[in-house]
Amino acid sequence: MPTTRTLIVVAALAALTLSSCSFRESGPFATGSYVERQFDSGPYGGEIEGRISLDDVHLPALARLHLPLRTALQAAAAEAEASGVDMYLTSGWRSAAYQQRLFDDAVVRYGSADEARRWVQSPDRSKHVTGWAVDIGPTDADDWLIQHGGEYGLCQTYANEMWHFEMADTTGGGCPVPSSDASSDRAESSR
Ligand SMILES: [Zn+2]
Repeated sequence: MPTTRTLIVVAALAALTLSSCSFRESGPFATGSYVERQFDSGPYGGEIEGRISLDDVHLPALARLHLPLRTALQAAAAEAEASGVDMYLTSGWRSAAYQQRLFDDAVVRYGSADEARRWVQSPDRSKHVTGWAVDIGPTDADDWLIQHGGEYGLCQTYANEMWHFEMADTTGGGCPVPSSDASSDRAESSR
C-alpha cells in the first residue's frame, strides 16, 4: 500500500511539473494576446467604473487627456470644491475600440446610426478618443462648470449633454452657444 501511495505522489508531482512547463511554454503567446486585448478595454481603454477623482492621474481616462484640458479641469475642480461642489470625471480619454463599443451599443439602443449620433460620436469623430473631451458629474458639478467653466476655457459642447465639456477659446469672454446635439457636428463638417 505505501508503494501505491508513493506512486500516486510521484505521478501527481510529474503532472504538476508537466502542467507548469506547458503553462510557461504557452506563456509568451497568452501574455501577448492578453496585453493586446487589455490596451483597448477596461481601464486601459479609458473605461471608468462610476466616477474617478480628478487627481487619479494614474488612470488612462485622465492620464491620456491633453495636458491643458487636464490642468484646466483640476483648477476648476479645486475652485468648485472650495465653494462646496465636488467634481468627478465620469468619462475622459477613450480608446477607439471602447468608443466603437459605445457607438454600437447606442445604435442598438436608439434604433439607427443617425439617432445614435445625437448621443455618441463614432470613433473617428469623438473628441474623447483624441483626448480633448470629458464627461463630468454629478449634476451640481455640471451646473457649476456651465456657469464658471468659461474662466478655464471649459465649455459645454452640446445642449443635450450637460455633462460633456471640451476646451474652447474663451479669451473673448464666455463660451460659444452649444450645438443642439452631437449630430449637428456631422452636418457642419460635411458642409
Ligand atoms: Zn462626452
